[in-house]
Amino acid sequence: MKPYRVVIIGARFSGLTVAHWVHRLLQSGEFTGTIVDAWPTMTYRPGLVYAMRARPEFVRRLHIETRKTVERCGFHFVEDHALRVDPSHQQVHLAAHRPLPYDVLFLASGSDPGWNTIAGLNVSRGGLCEDYLARHTASVLKGWQSGTLIFACGPLHASPHQPVQLATADEFMLYEASLLWDWACRRRHVRHLTEIILMTPAPVLGEPLGPSGRARLAAIMAQRDIHIKTQTQFVEVRDDGIQTEHAFLPAQAMVWVPPYVGSGLARNSGLDDGYGWVPVTPHLQHRNWSNIYAVGDITNHVPKLAHAAMVQARVAVHHWWSSLSHRPTPPPYHPQVIAMLDIGYGKGLFSLNTTLYGGTRDFTYVGYPAQIGKRLFNGAYIRSHGWLPVMP
Ligand SMILES: Cc1cc2nc3c(=O)[nH]c(=O)nc-3n(C[C@H](O)[C@H](O)[C@H](O)COP(=O)(O)OP(=O)(O)OC[C@H]3O[C@@H](n4cnc5c(N)ncnc54)[C@H](O)[C@@H]3O)c2cc1C
Repeated sequence: MKPYRVVIIGARFSGLTVAHWVHRLLQSGEFTGTIVDAWPTMTYRPGLVYAMRARPEFVRRLHIETRKTVERCGFHFVEDHALRVDPSHQQVHLAAHRPLPYDVLFLASGSDPGWNTIAGLNVSRGGLCEDYLARHTASVLKGWQSGTLIFACGPLHASPHQPVQLATADEFMLYEASLLWDWACRRRHVRHLTEIILMTPAPVLGEPLGPSGRARLAAIMAQRDIHIKTQTQFVEVRDDGIQTEHAFLPAQAMVWVPPYVGSGLARNSGLDDGYGWVPVTPHLQHRNWSNIYAVGDITNHVPKLAHAAMVQARVAVHHWWSSLSHRPTPPPYHPQVIAMLDIGYGKGLFSLNTTLYGGTRDFTYVGYPAQIGKRLFNGAYIRSHGWLPVMP
């Protein structure tokens, strides 16, 4: 039998996990695997929240050579930009290579940043989501003495018909960054000269969390004197601050999570829901094309988290494999929100809930073990180059 042509677009959390599971479930002669990514190196994004108090060079420690991990999974790495998927001819069109044929395609290419969707907002305003942004933020904040720093989260542009609605895609990283910045300022004895504001379009702080997580987070933010502005509608971003629908907030520096606007690749390929997100079945299969799966940030699932991306990758590959090998259909993806935040002072907040999806689980813990757990996961992921011995 001819080997299956497995193609993955995107080589970060979700794409690498897909490659792992294909490698684990299929014999080497059963598939030819290709993974396409615009970059041969991945930056471990959860580590970027430490940029605030680090030297700009620190991001190098977060780089993972994805090519190595990909090859270990028996995949061939193609460094290129995917322009369009042609589902009728089962091909991926690339910028610099010939079209790539597939028998099964896994879309794992995340969301595009919507920097141009708010007047005056652009990458130079400050951010954390990619290594060059974190480096820039680290150099801007080096030697900080006083002033106002705003942490701002852009809105999630998603279909209003989605069953689970959130105002933002993932603002946990901003909670972490603001708390870590508060801690850094206190250690440098400049906290009394520093105002920290966190702005979000969400109706409440910790929108994806359950009641226990929201209450703990609100108490921590209040105790640390971080001012929260919810339901923000951004009108314009200027050099000296942010204009909202109701007020102008002056700031000496800003850290943005840009609006999440979905995937241009999915849009160009006609594979999106009209808003840039790929609509999927409970097994992460595309709603119209059974040989296309989507996993991670590119799907219409919320919030957009690395843990969710890795679980979705496992479910998707098992589903594809079970249909190939005529095995019973595996369980579908059961979404849950798992947040692990480093809140400074050596402590962390761990929260697990299903209330966002109509479930009843709602657990939150604050303490030293939560921070240790997060650090261990970060270290293990980076040291293993994304090859974690235990997958979720
Ligand atoms: C600062 C920060 C901190 C975070 N912290 C946490 C955390 O603590 N815990 C947590 O669970 N989540 C966290 N997240 C969220 C998490 O990083 C994302 O959910 C996760 O990265 C999604 O993974 P993904 O593989 O689906 O997409 P991405 O990470 O976006 O990867 C997509 C890949 O596809 C490639 N690609 C995109 N388009 C194309 C194309 N057209 N052609 C070729 N390649 C393409 C990109 O180069 C990229 O390598 C954090 C995010 C940020 C920004």
